[in-house]
Amino acid sequence: MPGFDLHTHTVFSDGTTTPEDNVRVAAALGLEGIGVTDHDTTQPFERALAAAEASSIEVVLGTEFSAELDGFGVHVLGYWVDPGFGPLSDELDRLRDERADRARRIVARFGELGIHITFDRVAELAGGAPIGRPHIASAVVEVGGAATNDEVFDLFLGDGGPANVEKHAVDPVRAVELLVAAGGVAVLAHPGLYADRAGDGGLALDVIEEMADAGLAGIEADHPDHSMAQRDRYRDLAHGLGLEVTGGSDFHGDAKPNRLGSTTTSRSIVERLRGWRRA
Ligand code: AMP
Ligand code: ZN
Ligand code: FE
Ligand code: FE
Repeated sequence: MPGFDLHTHTVFSDGTTTPEDNVRVAAALGLEGIGVTDHDTTQPFERALAAAEASSIEVVLGTEFSAELDGFGVHVLGYWVDPGFGPLSDELDRLRDERADRARRIVARFGELGIHITFDRVAELAGGAPIGRPHIASAVVEVGGAATNDEVFDLFLGDGGPANVEKHAVDPVRAVELLVAAGGVAVLAHPGLYADRAGDGGLALDVIEEMADAGLAGIEADHPDHSMAQRDRYRDLAHGLGLEVTGGSDFHGDAKPNRLGSTTTSRSIVERLRGWRRA
């Protein structure tokens, strides 16, 4: 299987595998490279690089930045960002703190709904990674509040759900600016998955155009949760805006059904993406 899977998670956010696991599985699948893109952190960079050096494949270091618009999450992938760039690392620190505060408030909401979980258990499940809703969902399943993590999201924790609490975050245009200023290349993650906030089942076109004006380099049209019609639509949109079309699996180990390598980006597009880096 040639190409690069440009979107994978590890235990450094809400995945269940290590950076070494992802590199090993990608190499076994015959991929040319893999993006390690944990939510709101650059912590796995060193280990992912070391793992890549010991293998035949290339690692594209990135982060999946959690932006927000009108209370709904919008994710922006930032590849090749400088982890030492202050304005970005400050924002990531703030986001992580914010995630912990939000988790406490969500735990309280569940309590009001009669489902008793503790913040300590949620933090334990996160294992030091930025706390995400999937960690909270696992805690809810443990106490029998729902059968599966997906059910927790459907019943309580999805955007607009009774237990969800918004986290304060920057808007997607600012996210692009920040990632570009950090020397990175910004790609809009899974634009078809922001259905709750757009009647047409995706992120509004004018927002994507504004992001493009701010320096967005690509759109992740090929995502396992996009329908074929969505993939076509976002491919056309990217081309119309002069942007690259990327693909990645959003692999989360056992935390999601997405299989590593199930959607990929060709080497030639990865090279073009690299060309978007600001000198
Ligand atoms: P957070 O960053 O804490 O808001 O959590 C976002 C993560 O929750 C996403 O990256 C997904 O892994 C997961 N998620 C969000 N919505 C759903 C959903 N409806 N069903 C299952 N998982 C979801
Ligand atoms: Zn995730
Ligand atoms: Fe995402
Ligand atoms: Fe992701």
